[in-house]
Amino acid sequence: MNYDFLIVGQGITGSIVALQLKKNLKKFKIIEDGNPNTSSKVAAGIVHPISLKRCNLSWRGREFYEFSDAFYKEINIESSIELYKSYKLLRIFASFEEQNNWIGKTNNEIYKNILKLNNKELNNLKNKFGSGVIELCSRLSVNKFLDFVSSSFLKSNELKKDLFKPDEIKLKNNRFHYKGNIYSKVIMCDGVNALKNPMFNYLPIIPNKGELLKVSSKILPQQIINCGIFSLPETKNIFTIGSTYSNEDQKNNITMDAKKYLIKKLNKIIEIDGIEIIDQKFGFRPTSLDRKPLIGEHPIIKNLFTVNGMGSKAILMAPMLVSELLNYIYQKKPLDSMVNINRFTKKIKDENIDYAKSLGL
Ligand SMILES: Cc1cc2nc3c(=O)[nH]c(=O)nc-3n(C[C@H](O)[C@H](O)[C@H](O)COP(=O)(O)OP(=O)(O)OC[C@H]3O[C@@H](n4cnc5c(N)ncnc54)[C@H](O)[C@@H]3O)c2cc1C
Repeated sequence: MNYDFLIVGQGITGSIVALQLKKNLKKFKIIEDGNPNTSSKVAAGIVHPISLKRCNLSWRGREFYEFSDAFYKEINIESSIELYKSYKLLRIFASFEEQNNWIGKTNNEIYKNILKLNNKELNNLKNKFGSGVIELCSRLSVNKFLDFVSSSFLKSNELKKDLFKPDEIKLKNNRFHYKGNIYSKVIMCDGVNALKNPMFNYLPIIPNKGELLKVSSKILPQQIINCGIFSLPETKNIFTIGSTYSNEDQKNNITMDAKKYLIKKLNKIIEIDGIEIIDQKFGFRPTSLDRKPLIGEHPIIKNLFTVNGMGSKAILMAPMLVSELLNYIYQKKPLDSMVNINRFTKKIKDENIDYAKSLGL
């Protein structure tokens, strides 16, 4: 069978690639190995355009937010499920300096309709420096979103549950041959697993471990709160508390250190006596050396693409960046130089050149 695209990986990015190709009436197949511990499967799903540490708009924040907001709202309609929902995020200030900075921003035209000061009483929460609100914030129920994409494309036979093996692909007449099918183009959306694959393992992908807790509480409010870590309401008394960030710990396990860290942080804003820990999870965010996504075409193997390096902002950035990649593929519109993987072409290794040759180039 002939296809326009092979997509490897059905995490957040692979799902978004597939949904946009579907809209463009392209013929594709997704291969997903079903690893239960991926970054997408543990992602909290929070999306807003603010970089909270510095209280700044994040890079291309507003345009990414507007694009992704429209994209997910369309998926809500298509799926007839509320996968994506608006929230207001409450930021508990850690100091008077942060409070002053926030107040300064609320008077700035750029932050109009995004940042506000919170004037409402906060029951049960310790907030001696006050709090602010991010008005432009939403949550994608990531696992429900992945399930919706997976069940739709399994039904239409566009998704295959299998492990993709890069050494079994061959190039003949500029087409990729893989397990009896022929593809014009391949898009790798394999997250941190790209490091095990000679196609793109020269890219400086840094797996950043993140852990979260699922807790039961009768006192946490039904609102997204951020105080360095976040509390996210799941159901009436169940909350997700996250996350940790570690470039050092590369082990596939949950840790006591992460649990202690999250509880200590939570204790700064709430009495933790009334909290029971139900579960703990981990995943590895695909981050990059310069903290920007990794998008584009392989420097040697033409028609082989990657969408990776989304860090902690896949939900915000992926819809627009995938659309830009498709514009590059079909209309030759240049990619944003900040994300284009050609910035790392010099890092290509002998292993990658040998792999390209093994395809039949
Ligand atoms: C604790 C935590 C909390 C987070 N919270 C948020 C959040 O609130 N908002 C946000 O925007 N981001 C969040 N993130 C970041 C977000 O999860 C990532 O940016 C995003 O999931 C990356 O998606 P991806 O599809 O590129 O990679 P992945 O999620 O890693 O998906 C890659 C997929 O490819 C499959 N795959 C890999 N290799 C192969 C192969 N050879 N064959 C077949 N299949 C393969 C994998 O099984 C996987 O399903 C969080 C991350 C963590 C760890």
